[in-house]
Amino acid sequence: MLDILTDQYYDIKECINTATLLSLDFVVTGDIVNDEITNISLYIDQMGEIHDASLYIPKSKQELKEIGKSDMVEYLDSKESQIRHTAPTGYSRYDRIVARDYALEYTSNATKYCKCGELYGVDYDYWNNSEYPYFDNACHNDCADYVSQAMHEGGIPIEAGKWERLKDGNSGYGPYGWTWTNVAALKDYMTSKGYWDKSNFAQCNAGNILLTSSSHIVMVTLNDTVTHRYSGHTRDRKNYQFYDNSDYQYYTIKTN
Ligand SMILES: [Zn+2]
Repeated sequence: MLDILTDQYYDIKECINTATLLSLDFVVTGDIVNDEITNISLYIDQMGEIHDASLYIPKSKQELKEIGKSDMVEYLDSKESQIRHTAPTGYSRYDRIVARDYALEYTSNATKYCKCGELYGVDYDYWNNSEYPYFDNACHNDCADYVSQAMHEGGIPIEAGKWERLKDGNSGYGPYGWTWTNVAALKDYMTSKGYWDKSNFAQCNAGNILLTSSSHIVMVTLNDTVTHRYSGHTRDRKNYQFYDNSDYQYYTIKTN
């Protein structure tokens, strides 16, 4: 028995880092049959728990290789490894902070009249005219166009013939010319594509969508849980405070 104990001790000793203080209490069990000790097992007492000492004997390199190989095969055969990780909605991410910053950059709390003279509170100097030229036939009616621009900046991709800004705005492009510039068409497109999820006053944070009516859309540009602000066109507003209203509809934009 002493031989076995000595062998086991030397096996275990090999895996004890010399820099680590480790106290090992061995427990040896066996059966006495005809005055002979058989079925000898060696245990280690660690922190009051008895462990099979063989667990502490390091495996050979070959054994470790085999274990690694069988773990890998098991994983490759598993269901988890067969799942494709692709974005189901066709765009990799929506960055609502980028969208918010765009919205804040291209509007103001305007104190001028629009070109057609119908609406007070429009200031084209703040609009992104170089990228999205102003068009006469819309004039001040720019709320959906402005929100579309910000959403696109945040990551929602152009879909040719379906959702894109046309030079002449909302005219002459079949039903799809409207999706960029018309509130109802924009809402239909975004929800049917799965880009928008129904939300509420509390959860709709910056970079997401507020419809104050069926024909007016703005972007939420602040929600610190106490103060809620939006920015928009068709009366240009920048970080304008709002409160919940039963007529309002909120949407959050999916991030994948
Ligand atoms: Zn106008």
